[in-house]
Amino acid sequence: MLNWDHTPSLEPMRCCRAWVEINLAALQHNVRQFRGLLPATTQLMAVVKADAYGHGAVTVAQTALQSGATWLGVATVPEGIELRAAGVQAPILVMGAVNSPEEMQAIAHWRLQPTLVNPKQALVFSDTLSGLAAARPVGVHLKIDTGMTRLGFPWAEAVDFARFVRQLPHLKIDSLYSHLATADSPDPTIMQQQQQRFKTALGHLQQQQLLPPRLHLANTAATLADPDLHYDLVRVGLGLYGLYPAPHLQSRLDLQPVMQVKARITHLKDVPAGTGISYGHQYVCDRPLRLAVVGIGYADGVPRVLSNRLQVMVKGRLAQQIGAITMDQLMLDVSHIPSLQEGDVVTLLGRDGPHIIGPDDWAAMANTISWEILCGFKHRLPRIAVEQPLAASTAVQS
Ligand SMILES: *Cc1c(COP(=O)(O)O)cnc(C)c1O
Repeated sequence: MLNWDHTPSLEPMRCCRAWVEINLAALQHNVRQFRGLLPATTQLMAVVKADAYGHGAVTVAQTALQSGATWLGVATVPEGIELRAAGVQAPILVMGAVNSPEEMQAIAHWRLQPTLVNPKQALVFSDTLSGLAAARPVGVHLKIDTGMTRLGFPWAEAVDFARFVRQLPHLKIDSLYSHLATADSPDPTIMQQQQQRFKTALGHLQQQQLLPPRLHLANTAATLADPDLHYDLVRVGLGLYGLYPAPHLQSRLDLQPVMQVKARITHLKDVPAGTGISYGHQYVCDRPLRLAVVGIGYADGVPRVLSNRLQVMVKGRLAQQIGAITMDQLMLDVSHIPSLQEGDVVTLLGRDGPHIIGPDDWAAMANTISWEILCGFKHRLPRIAVEQPLAASTAVQS
């Protein structure tokens, strides 16, 4: 077992109140599933922004690269630097926009590759590189807006943009890309409109012999939805972590959840009927209860809005969370589970006996998306890599 807790003298699974388990076997399996879906000419970018959706960017990047990914995608320059500083050599695309010369110097120094969304930014980047001694050309990625209405140069003006960037010194256009707004919707109308705009832009670029060597459009949902969206590279985040962007995309691949969230019972007590529990006494028990206090709270990433609704797993049984979830702790009704002890492990997300609770379950209750649940787990929870066998039905396929 590998342990990248900041305090190696502590063994988190033995002594910590709460932790996140990362199943590297599941991650490898998911990467291979996507690799198997793609033609050999389409590269797989592992999107590891936001600390690999809370899973730990360095470990995820290294594992994904060993299993068939060839590119890494991050959102910010510091996220890219973290990977380089850990010795990761693969090409790294910074998908967020960078505008300051300082950020651009860091990009050049750490051999990251920026996303360019307008001519001004390209000019600043080129000037910045001119000021650096012995600058080699830096691969840049032109992003066009085809309907996401976030980052990107207007798609109808892609030719002007590419022509401008091409004549600047020190920049080498590596790719042209765009991002889809509705790839997880069962209704493909808007996605098809975006793809049509992308294709039109490609046609114009081709006519002017300005077509970049690499084209990409797909996130996880688009990768699963339609092979026609794969182009030269796909940018996959959520799927690598074993989750599906939407129910109708579940049949395409067999994915395995990578993350489990666990915590320990830190205190057990019996309380009489009529006792108010936690801040505000939102919950007052109408019968005597066996109560377990668990060492995890909203400051660790358990949404407070799930108070009194959350169910967790203990010794293969479900237990109801009661009272307000507090910053560092939450309470369970464990009256129906005999012989629990302080130190026993509670699984908040993952599998225990016959039960599975996933980020999609929390997302539905919290009125959000699984992406936000994953990213919500804070750094005070140690990430612990484990190699758990996969569910029998799927292990044979990998
Ligand atoms: C985050 C992101 C992705 C990955 O999205 P998933 O839905 O998690 O696969 C791909 N492309 C861009 C530009 C992104 O910002």
